[in-house]
Amino acid sequence: MILWLCRLAIVMITNKIVKIAISLLEEDMDTIEGVCIECGVVHHGVESDAEKYKCDNCETNTVYGADQIILLYG
Ligand SMILES: [Zn+2]
Repeated sequence: MILWLCRLAIVMITNKIVKIAISLLEEDMDTIEGVCIECGVVHHGVESDAEKYKCDNCETNTVYGADQIILLYG
C-alpha cells in the first residue's frame, strides 16, 4: 500500500513537471528555461537540453531543461 502510494506520488509529480516543461516550451520557444524535477522550481537561463544542473532551492543536481524533461518523461 505504501509502495503503491509512493509510485502514485512519483507519477503525479512527474506529470506536473512535464506539464510545466510543456507550458514553458509553448509559452515562448526562445525562452531558455529549466525545471527542478525534485522540487518543481522553474530555473531561468538554463539550456533546454540541460541535465543535472544544481538547483538553488533544494541544492540537488536535478535541474533539467524543458526539452530534456519531455524527452525523459513526456
Ligand atoms: Zn530543486
